[in-house]
Amino acid sequence: MQLQESAISLLLRSPRLSVSLALDLLDISDRDFRLMVKQNAQIAELLEQRRNGELQPVKPEYKECPSCKEWFLPYAGARFCSDECVKIHKLESRKAGTLAR
Ligand SMILES: [Zn+2]
Repeated sequence: MQLQESAISLLLRSPRLSVSLALDLLDISDRDFRLMVKQNAQIAELLEQRRNGELQPVKPEYKECPSCKEWFLPYAGARFCSDECVKIHKLESRKAGTLAR
């Protein structure tokens, strides 16, 4: 249930996706969804925003990878664009005598 709730609140942020399609995608029944709306203030608020047409499209925020200097779309607050760049960064920090975090 918890996972479905966070998944549906993500999907509901997309103005291009209808509520019924989002429910279909996640295989959530109308009954379950009504329950979620009652219990989850975030979902209730998203629905309210959709109704009022106030939904803001999610803007992707790009970051510069400290290793390769490429711009990338960070997933879950990642600092580097790839595992390889994490390794490179650790190696370089070690070389420079600083502690890699
Ligand atoms: Zn990189």
